[in-house]
Amino acid sequence: MIPYGKHHIDEDDIQAVVDILRSSFLTQGPAVEAFEKAVAEYVGVKYAVAVSSGTAALHLAALAAGVGPGTSVVTSPITFVASANASRYCGGDVLFADIDPETVNMSPDALREVLLKNSNVKAIIPVHFAGLPCDMVTIKNLADEAGAVVIEDAAHALGATYLNGRRVGCCENSLMTIFSFHPVKAIAAGEGGMITTNDEAVYRRLLRLRSHGINKMNDQFMVFDQAKTKEKLNPWYYEMQELGYHYRITDIQCGLALSQFKKLDKFIKRRREIAKKYDEAISNSSVFTPVQISGRENSGHHLYVLKIDFDKLGSDRASFMMSLRDKDIITQVHYMPIPMHPFYRGLGFVPDHYPNSVDYYQKCLSIPIYYSLSEHEQCFVVDAITLR
Ligand SMILES: *Cc1c(COP(=O)(O)O)cnc(C)c1O
Repeated sequence: MIPYGKHHIDEDDIQAVVDILRSSFLTQGPAVEAFEKAVAEYVGVKYAVAVSSGTAALHLAALAAGVGPGTSVVTSPITFVASANASRYCGGDVLFADIDPETVNMSPDALREVLLKNSNVKAIIPVHFAGLPCDMVTIKNLADEAGAVVIEDAAHALGATYLNGRRVGCCENSLMTIFSFHPVKAIAAGEGGMITTNDEAVYRRLLRLRSHGINKMNDQFMVFDQAKTKEKLNPWYYEMQELGYHYRITDIQCGLALSQFKKLDKFIKRRREIAKKYDEAISNSSVFTPVQISGRENSGHHLYVLKIDFDKLGSDRASFMMSLRDKDIITQVHYMPIPMHPFYRGLGFVPDHYPNSVDYYQKCLSIPIYYSLSEHEQCFVVDAITLR
């Protein structure tokens, strides 16, 4: 089977997990902080908080941004549902800004219009689709004008860089950035996520929210007569200061993630080669067009998406996918626009209000791209797609 995406585990990764299993901590131990520190240093940010999933990271980021009833979040229609659900978890509303067909990222012009028509936007969640960074300078300016904060959904973009060469996650134009370590993403933790920020108050709040809302480090206590005896801190004492969650990640997961992280640059380099080869293979095709051609060097290459003219191909997408599956090649559609999902339709969303997203959705297909895809396998995929 050749899936559209896949993790790559080597003996070092296995040993890293075994080492954790033989250590004193399966959770709440040193591997969590070590992983946070490694990612923070790599992306160039002050603080990082590792959590149980990318979805948990989005939920906590939305809470820390102040999203709640009476406020809303703007995101892209073309993303995984978690980008939008984060606002609903907090009781906030969701607004969508249509994509730019060239980048498949949220269009800054569409965002500007949404912000003109809606007040009370608390946060903007741009998604670096397939690993291609959004125009963060423009988005940040629009957010500032609207009094909103920016949370970058970089679930696809660990290892990607902005035009100025800085890494996604450095938060130079956002309050927070989130990552996912699901096996199909750049590095695998089994399940896992992370939030990065340069804001100390946000960092402290995230630490509390990750673990039941219980105070952390040298947070101020609220109830002094319980906290201290004769001016000295009571050894048993902790306080739950707000309603938090149990979104902790384990040391087992962080041991694996740390080992995987050492290979990130190698992983991205190989993904880039694969993308380039696909670009070349379809460069003269009138049926298949690559997306996100400009900015390739900066992308994390999480996905390789083809835009397909199914009329010219003489097949519909389902039949085409099934014919590839018969050759053990698994493709996928990323994504059906979120407003088309029954839950969001039920909230009154109308897919036709996002014409670029609907048009993209009708033509897109993600084909295999991952570190261990061999040259031979890629040739097989190219032939299966183009030599019909
Ligand atoms: C994978 C993904 C998430 C959620 O990450 P999990 O770790 O699976 O919870 C969020 N946003 C996008 C764009 C994703 O692709």
